[in-house]
Amino acid sequence: MTLLSQLIRRITEQGPLPVADYMEACNTHYYATRDPFGAGGDFITAPEISQVFGELLGAWMLDAWMQAGSPKAILCELGPGRGTLMRDALNATKRYEAFHSSLHLHMVETSPVLQAAQQRALSAFTLKMQWQAGFLPLPPLPLFLIANEFFDALPIHQFYADGTERHITERGGMLHWDRDEIPARETSPASLEIMQSLAQHLRAYGGAALIIDYGYRGGSRGCTLQAVKHHTYADPLLTPGEADLTAHVDMDALAAVAEKAGLGWNIIGQGPFLRQLGIELRTVALCKQASEEQKENLLSGMERLTSSAQMGELFKVLIITSLS
Ligand code: SAH
Repeated sequence: MTLLSQLIRRITEQGPLPVADYMEACNTHYYATRDPFGAGGDFITAPEISQVFGELLGAWMLDAWMQAGSPKAILCELGPGRGTLMRDALNATKRYEAFHSSLHLHMVETSPVLQAAQQRALSAFTLKMQWQAGFLPLPPLPLFLIANEFFDALPIHQFYADGTERHITERGGMLHWDRDEIPARETSPASLEIMQSLAQHLRAYGGAALIIDYGYRGGSRGCTLQAVKHHTYADPLLTPGEADLTAHVDMDALAAVAEKAGLGWNIIGQGPFLRQLGIELRTVALCKQASEEQKENLLSGMERLTSSAQMGELFKVLIITSLS
C-alpha cells in the first residue's frame, strides 16, 4: 500500500490530519527509503557542498572541548545524512589523538539507509561510535553536539489567523488543505522537546552545541512549509513521502530553551560564522594542491556557503555553551 493510500485510510477512519502528523509520516517514509542528497537526488546540504564546512565545525568542537578542560565526553550529531560532515570533522581533528580517544560518538539517525551510509563514511576512524534513533539516552558526560539541517525536518503544527489548527483532508483520492487560507503561525513541539533534553544535558554535564539551519528570528509569521524534489519546489500534498518536507526553524524559540536553562547562547549568520573560523584561509590552502576543477568547486562552494545572497544569512548558527 502506498503512503498516499495509507494516509487516505487514516483520514477516513480518524478524521482530518494535523500538518505535524502528515509531516512526520511523510519524512519517516522519505528518509527511510532513499539517500536524497546530491546532484542526482533532491537537495544538497552544506557538508556536501564543501569539505571545509565539516572541517571548520570539527575545529570548533575541538576548541570547545579543550576550553572545557579536555574531558572524557560525548560527540553527538543529530540527523547526520550521509555522514560527510562528521567524516570531515574527524579528519580535520585526527592529529589531536587525545580528542579522538576521549570521545564516544553518538550518531542520532532514524533512517536505516542513512545509518548504513554513515557507517561507511566513518569506517576509517577508530573512535568509539554508536547509532541511535533518538537523542536520548545519553551517558552522563559533557556533550559536544552538531545538528545541520536537522530541526527543519521535524514536524510543525500550523495555525490560521483565528487560532484554528490547519488540517489535511481527503477528497476523490487526493489530499487537500482544510481551508483555502495561508496559515498565520507555526510551532514545533517536537523540536522544543529535543532542545529541552539537550539543554538539560548541557546544564547538568557541560559542553556545547552548534545548531545550523534555514531559520528565522523574531517569532513565527506565516507559512514556511515546503516540499523539494529533484532540486525544485513541489506541492507538499501531491507526492507524500516522495519529496523532502521542511519548515524554517524558529531560532529564537530554540534559543529561549537554552536561555531558560541558564546556558550561554548566540545566533549568527552562517556566513559570518564560517568567516570567523577561517573559511577563506582553509579554502585557499586546499586550492594550492587542487586541480583546476577542484579549485573552482572549492571557491564556488565557499561563495555558496557564505555569501548573503546564498546561504550566508538565511542559514543561521545557534551556538550554545555551558561555559560563561
Ligand atoms: N545533516 C545532514 C543531513 C540533513 S537531512 C546534512 O547536512 O547533510 C536530515 C537528516 O535528519 C537525515 O539524516 C534524516 O534521516 C534525519 N532525520 C530526520 N528526522 C529525524 C528524526 N526525527 N530523528 C532522527 N533523525 C532524523
